[in-house]
Amino acid sequence: SGAPNSPSPSQVPVGVDPTRPSIARIYDGFLGGKDHYEVDRVVMRKINDAVPEAVHIARGNRGFLNRACRFLAAQSKIEQYLDCGSGLPTAENTHQIVQRTNPDARVVYVDNDPVVLAHGRALLEENENVHITEADIFTPSTVLKNPVVSTHLDLSEPLVLLHVGTLHHLEGDGGPAVMQEYIDALAPGSYVVFSHFFDPETPGQTEIAKKIEEILVKGPMGAGRFRTRDEILAMLPGLEIIKPNATTGPDLVACDEWWPDGPRLTPLSDSAHCIAGIVARKP
Ligand code: SAM
Repeated sequence: SGAPNSPSPSQVPVGVDPTRPSIARIYDGFLGGKDHYEVDRVVMRKINDAVPEAVHIARGNRGFLNRACRFLAAQSKIEQYLDCGSGLPTAENTHQIVQRTNPDARVVYVDNDPVVLAHGRALLEENENVHITEADIFTPSTVLKNPVVSTHLDLSEPLVLLHVGTLHHLEGDGGPAVMQEYIDALAPGSYVVFSHFFDPETPGQTEIAKKIEEILVKGPMGAGRFRTRDEILAMLPGLEIIKPNATTGPDLVACDEWWPDGPRLTPLSDSAHCIAGIVARKP
């Protein structure tokens, strides 16, 4: 996909171009939001036609984000959160969850989608501990040196870095280098909350991953990769993975399997297995 140094599709700001679909609007649409245009709905319909339960990927991802934030707010005592690729402000956002436990927690959101930035600014106006800024999350130096980030967060102290549902929108194999740069910048004792489209490498589930990937990568989005366990773990170098559930299972699980709220009454769909979530700590 293009010259080695050409930007990944999602690094090109979306603008308010109603002819170009937006990752943020499509994802929010799957979560029940209303801020999508016809160009987004075309992609949503294609995905739904190919994989009727694809919505489980978005819901699983958002549920994981919420439980991971609740867990870290309660147990890590860390008071600063850097949420990269925050998405449209849907019902329960990082700051609402962590500030419920700790009203002093500070959150900086980063995104490059103008609709996200506009909604985010409107929502956050009243909250002095929450900020949103524009940067390319796949160029870590621009995030780490961003004045909003450096004014409100102290990188020399432990923080929680969120890259939830983001790296699969980076084309090519630059993911490990991007995450390495973030991880190098974190103080020991920091946490990383991470999720990614997942190819579980089992026949039915791989088929789902391939169908959705085909629509996203070959369509107007130009990006959306499902990666394997090894490819995902390569993006979290040097981190200790928090045990993802109460059993002695694998280190990487479907988002829905990451410390669920309670026992499962119905089995997970194959689609729900196609998004993986990890919480890890920098030693
Ligand atoms: N993190 C949220 C969650 O998991 O619920 C939202 C995930 S949404 C699938 C991905 C978000 O990343 C979108 O809001 C999109 O605008 C943002 N994004 C994608 N590429 C980006 C880039 N290069 N720089 C900044 N934000 C980006």
